[in-house]
Amino acid sequence: MKVKILGTRGEIERSAPWHTKHSGVLVDDTFLLDLGEKEYLDHDPEFVVFTHFHPDHAFFMRKHQQLDKSIEAYGPEKPDELNNLYKRTTAFDRGPYHFTPIPTIHSLKVKSQAYIVEKGEQRILYTGDLAWMEKKYQKELGKLDMVITEGSFFKKGGMIRRHKASGKIFGHTGVPDLVRIFSKHTNHIVLMHFGNWFMKDIEKAREKIAKLSNDDVKVEAARDGQEFSL
Ligand SMILES: [Zn+2]
Ligand SMILES: [Zn+2]
Repeated sequence: MKVKILGTRGEIERSAPWHTKHSGVLVDDTFLLDLGEKEYLDHDPEFVVFTHFHPDHAFFMRKHQQLDKSIEAYGPEKPDELNNLYKRTTAFDRGPYHFTPIPTIHSLKVKSQAYIVEKGEQRILYTGDLAWMEKKYQKELGKLDMVITEGSFFKKGGMIRRHKASGKIFGHTGVPDLVRIFSKHTNHIVLMHFGNWFMKDIEKAREKIAKLSNDDVKVEAARDGQEFSL
């Protein structure tokens, strides 16, 4: 698989060179995982797979923005803005690709899921935003060639809030927590969706991320447009 990270900026005001665009990953020049910028449609994807419908992952959820063309899409729920969306919460195939949605905890208002994408023997995980992934789902991940996840917060524990009435958590966990979870399943973790901590001093931030690597796992920060070949 050829995996191109189109955008690495989280839902923040701040940006930095090489980190200006919101979430989107182009696989094999064929389909997109998330659609955080309208311009990603210029790649003419055959379909789009959404982790969740926050505007930095689905640009048309922003005020005064709309999706002009009807595009085939898959996601954890069906927003009114998308005519051609198939809600998929169980595994599905599309051409040579096999998608396994994995439920994630992130927001009280929108549903969210990560995806294992398989093509032949190759397997990658794209998480989208993550407050937590339940242990029973972590166990289902198996061995992955690459994990693409988020870097909203560097500090351990990230920024998790708890809804008083329901006790449900939401927000973003920290990079060290994500590395701990996913190191058990892969030897390559790629971070995107960076928060303010990253934009303040990119070189230092990249270094901090790289330092989380060890003999068994390489952890790295992606740049807008960076390509990985599996
Ligand atoms: Zn989100
Ligand atoms: Zn986001």
